[in-house]
Amino acid sequence: MRTGITPGEALRTILDETPVLAPETVAVREAQGRILAASVVSERTLPPADNSAMDGYAVRVADTGGAGPGSPVELRVAFEVAAGGAADADVGPGQAARVLTGAPIPTGADAVVRQEDTELEGDRLRVLVAPAPHEHIRDAGEDVRVGDRVLEPGAAIGPPHLGLLASLGRATIPVHQRPRVAILSGGDELVEPDGDVAGGRIVSSNSYSIAAQCREIGADPVYLGIARDTPEDVERHFRAGLRADVLVSSAGVSVGDRDYVRGVLEKLGCQLLFWGVKMKPGYPLAFGRFGRIEGSGGESGPLVFGLPGNPVSAMVTFEEFVRPALRKMIGHRELYRPLVRARLGETLRKKAGRLHFVRVGLAREDGRVVASSTGNQSSGVLRSMTRAAGLLIFPADATELAAGTEAEVQVLDPDFLASDRPGF
Ligand code: AMP
Ligand code: MG
Repeated sequence: MRTGITPGEALRTILDETPVLAPETVAVREAQGRILAASVVSERTLPPADNSAMDGYAVRVADTGGAGPGSPVELRVAFEVAAGGAADADVGPGQAARVLTGAPIPTGADAVVRQEDTELEGDRLRVLVAPAPHEHIRDAGEDVRVGDRVLEPGAAIGPPHLGLLASLGRATIPVHQRPRVAILSGGDELVEPDGDVAGGRIVSSNSYSIAAQCREIGADPVYLGIARDTPEDVERHFRAGLRADVLVSSAGVSVGDRDYVRGVLEKLGCQLLFWGVKMKPGYPLAFGRFGRIEGSGGESGPLVFGLPGNPVSAMVTFEEFVRPALRKMIGHRELYRPLVRARLGETLRKKAGRLHFVRVGLAREDGRVVASSTGNQSSGVLRSMTRAAGLLIFPADATELAAGTEAEVQVLDPDFLASDRPGF
């Protein structure tokens, strides 16, 4: 097992071991947020026929040349076509057809005059504006043609995708399975949120933040509870999660007397690939994988992340390593957060050796992004995470990032670009 590796080495090791989960078929109605596992090829043409973009009259351009408010052209309204109706008659010379928005254009007509540009008396229509050829006609197939690849594998299914799939008449689509993530905490000091905190006990908050981090990317968390600080209880909890795709534990992975996680994992047959990543917060991170588990369908067992116990370390190591792995499993092609270059609002200093992920607030000033530390960067200060719009990369070898210089920031807050004005 390797130890003291860089975050980059850790991430490569993890992604090398991470499978993309197999496809499953789901109802389009249930597919929001899922990742498409195969391309979607249209069996329909949309719109199916040339149709009117306006409520008005389908006319022959040859009849309406020179029409103007002072020189109306008079036509006879021969028939009407509604949206969804059939245009089974032709528009002959000197004729017009009443068309409603979406109605198919009858043969013979080659433009639509808006209702507002006409006057009607009985079946006599006065055209007050000469239409250009094809005006206000939407072409058959201008959106989709039979055989078009309309969606590619890896597409995240959002509102327009659902609308498009529905309009193509698709009832089901293949998407990647969602990873099931077994979450466990460990420590004699831990209680559930409604538990008694007398005598220095603390609430096991990590299971909440980690489960939420899972849900945010569409993974399916399964909570296994708190393991007591005994090898037997730690083992019992890990065993309960062996059928999951990923096991995420927090705490008990350091070098303390009661840190049993690594020993138990090895006993259960987990191949530990590394322990200890040169980063802050979050040095004591362990990663491994199980081989095939008897009685489970998969070819190999779960990936295992032993996250550090401190709440910020647990969240940041999840963010940097578990999140990209889960995104790969679930079929995403882009695994990482948006990166922005931000100007430092203050000077940051540290010792050389470890890469620091600095919790920062982000603001926009004169069109540039400015990053400022959220304050105390202790790995126990969970409030700093609630204020962090991003994590600033303070490279391992650097010891100072001067105010006014730029650094790269991973944007955590999707609302970071949200605005206080509508822009129109
Ligand atoms: P450990 O890795 O067991 O030494 O834990 C490191 C620190 O994280 C200790 O202060 C623990 O109390 C704290 N901690 C461990 N597990 C959790 C948890 N599930 N929720 C919140 N804090 C935790
Ligand atoms: Mg502990």
